[in-house]
Amino acid sequence: MNGGVDLHLHSTASDGQWTPAELVELAFQKGLQAIALTDHDTTEGVDEALRAAQGTRLRVIPGVEISTDAPGHHDLHILGYYIDHHDASLREQLEMLRQSRLDRARKIVRALDQAGCPVSWERVSALAGEGSVGRPHIALALVEAEHVDSVESAFHRFLGRGALAYIPRLKLSPPDAIRLILASGGVPVLAHPRHLIEHIPRLVRVGLAGLEVYYNGYIEAERHFLAKLAIKHHLIATGGSDFHGPGITSATDIGHPEVPISVVEQLEKAVRRRTARYAQE
Ligand SMILES: [Zn+2]
Ligand SMILES: [Zn+2]
Repeated sequence: MNGGVDLHLHSTASDGQWTPAELVELAFQKGLQAIALTDHDTTEGVDEALRAAQGTRLRVIPGVEISTDAPGHHDLHILGYYIDHHDASLREQLEMLRQSRLDRARKIVRALDQAGCPVSWERVSALAGEGSVGRPHIALALVEAEHVDSVESAFHRFLGRGALAYIPRLKLSPPDAIRLILASGGVPVLAHPRHLIEHIPRLVRVGLAGLEVYYNGYIEAERHFLAKLAIKHHLIATGGSDFHGPGITSATDIGHPEVPISVVEQLEKAVRRRTARYAQE
């Protein structure tokens, strides 16, 4: 019995392998008390997850993970918790980001063709299923076509930044993503921050409220360091597995590392504080 929470999960609504309802079932089996669905640039899976958890003691937190481009060409992901996932302007912005992801995927497939390592768009789309096509699906297609022997080497040789078929895409800046999450009532958190700590002070100034301290693969010393940083900047120390399903990214399991339920209480408190402040204004 785990009894903890997992605040970083991907479903078939983006590039995960399990549907939102399957993730809820899995979390329930693991004995988790709460999960957040944090699909890349979409909240399309949230209602299904909420429905699946109805009548159980598992809490589902509406979430999102927005991809942004930070100075110095860093991929920087901002998680948003307790967003109003039906908010029209949030949905519109996310739709624009998804469209750019799709355009980019098509360009990558063309670039691979030109590089003499073709994969079919039909196969890439089929691998994405109902989710939005992303580089992990192209990586799987490259493995299937035997151009590379692993997803990692697909990224290394073709898909990663600076690699042969790397294509940039339109992204928000980190402050814009934070403002978007705040505007839809959510709590913005810096995801997997290990290599991004120099950005923290600037992000705190625009409203960052949390730091992903407990993360799959972070050793004790790293967590300790990040926990201290969170305290220094008055940030909530959140965490999750970044689970995408077996085989998509590096090995991870739902509910690992263990994250205490108190994190959810802190997030809820942050939401209540903001609501009270808006009511006064
Ligand atoms: Zn991420
Ligand atoms: Zn993620």
